[in-house]
Amino acid sequence: MNCSETKRLIVLLESELDLREREILLKHLKQCDACRARWDEITAQQELLAEALRPEPARDLADRVIARLRRKND
Ligand SMILES: [Zn+2]
Repeated sequence: MNCSETKRLIVLLESELDLREREILLKHLKQCDACRARWDEITAQQELLAEALRPEPARDLADRVIARLRRKND
C-alpha cells in the first residue's frame, strides 16, 4: 500500500495547508485505502501523545473550575 499523498497527511494534521488543499486531501482520504490507514495511525498516535502530555485532565479541569467559582463567591 503506497500513495504519494500519504506524506502530505502529516502536513494536513499540522494545519499547514490552505483550505482548498485541505479539502482536496480530505476528499482523497475518503477514496484512498493507503491514506486512510495511515491517517488512522497518525491520529491514534496524536491522541496517545495528547493524553501523555496532560495526565489527569479531568481533575485539572475540575480544580480550575472550582478555583474560578471560589474567586467569584469571594
Ligand atoms: Zn492516498
